Amino acid sequence: MDILRFADKYGPAKIIQIHEPSVNLKAVLVIDNLALGRALGGIRMAPDVSVEECFRLARTMTLKHAAAGLPHGGGKVVVFGDPKMPRPDKERLIRALACALENEPEFIMAPDMGTSEEDMAWIRDEGAEGVVGLPAGLGGIPVDKMGATAWGVRQAVEAALPYCGFPAGFSLEKARVVIQGFGSVGGQAAHFLATLKTVLVGASDTRGAVYNPDGLDVAELIRLKETGKSVVDYPKGKIFEREAIIDFDCDIWIPAARPDVVREENVQHLKAKLVVEGANIPLTYGAEKYLYEHGVVCVPDFIANAGAVICSSAEYRGGAQTQVLSQILAIVEEKVRRNTKLVLEESAAQKILPREAAMRLALTRLEQAMSCKRWSIY
Ligand code: NAD
Repeated sequence: MDILRFADKYGPAKIIQIHEPSVNLKAVLVIDNLALGRALGGIRMAPDVSVEECFRLARTMTLKHAAAGLPHGGGKVVVFGDPKMPRPDKERLIRALACALENEPEFIMAPDMGTSEEDMAWIRDEGAEGVVGLPAGLGGIPVDKMGATAWGVRQAVEAALPYCGFPAGFSLEKARVVIQGFGSVGGQAAHFLATLKTVLVGASDTRGAVYNPDGLDVAELIRLKETGKSVVDYPKGKIFEREAIIDFDCDIWIPAARPDVVREENVQHLKAKLVVEGANIPLTYGAEKYLYEHGVVCVPDFIANAGAVICSSAEYRGGAQTQVLSQILAIVEEKVRRNTKLVLEESAAQKILPREAAMRLALTRLEQAMSCKRWSIY
């Protein structure tokens, strides 16, 4: 594969293949851009990851840090494997990965889909200093338990509301919400939005989707997921194939699962007036363009889901010791709200997609940092 095809003026600075046959470790590290500081990014484990996904996620991290005003570049690791493999096998794999990356001090590792704080603790135990998302006892900030990303998603929903062309008098109370991917981010976003009296009418996970126009019980769905069940085990709703989630009638649609779930060929099915991207790169550019042309507001991933990176950055700088968690959530609230507003105002004023406005915001900050470097991206 020609990996140089990803190269543009912003990165990637390095793409590194990691391979250790004795434990069947196959992984890729992409360090995208280091102008703002050491690259920070998650380790994603899934059987179907790719170099391209890794690069696009690393670039998203570059933009996310720049937009949120954090002193970090962007990077990402993908590990090819099933995260549900037996624990001893996973521990060997993660420890081997930590050893393979010990000469990459520009990269700070964090958990992502398929990895957890336990994996980060193993990495720390192998001697890595650049690792965040640790258990609280090791100085970690409990990003998932706090629901920092979902808290930010809720802020983005609230801040975006005036830009969506909803009829006069429309408020979040009774607004119909659909969530694709009722996992950590999706479930907590449903919870935070329910505190504003929105009505969750649809939810999905890998096994399928559930819909009830009268509303689903968010706490009950979260309980089901916590006991290892699926949203399709919810008894008071109609069950569909998971792809049907895109057809559900609603006001606000929140993708919180995988990349590229909404594309040019299925975007026409979306019914919402507002899409807030909890997941990373859940919509293709073409899908976002279609929504823009049809008056649907879409708050891009690196603006809406910046909660976790704000926490990770705080943890890296010893935040767990110096700040109470509510202070960190207040920072998430302030940054996500301000950026959502800035992006949607620029989008309206310049008649450009919200993603283009968000890119301008992030790239202005990034280019400023790049202009002070001896080289540009590292
Ligand atoms: P998670 O594993 O807890 O939840 C993902 C959920 O999506 C699961 O319930 C899974 O069953 C479901 N899912 C997977 N593929 C699906 C599909 N095709 N259709 C419907 N459902 C599907 O993961 P998470 O931590 O909630 O992360 C979700 C997304 O948000 C990812 O894209 C991740 O990169 C992004 N994200 C997460 C955080 C964070 O703080 N956890 C921060 C920023 C971005």
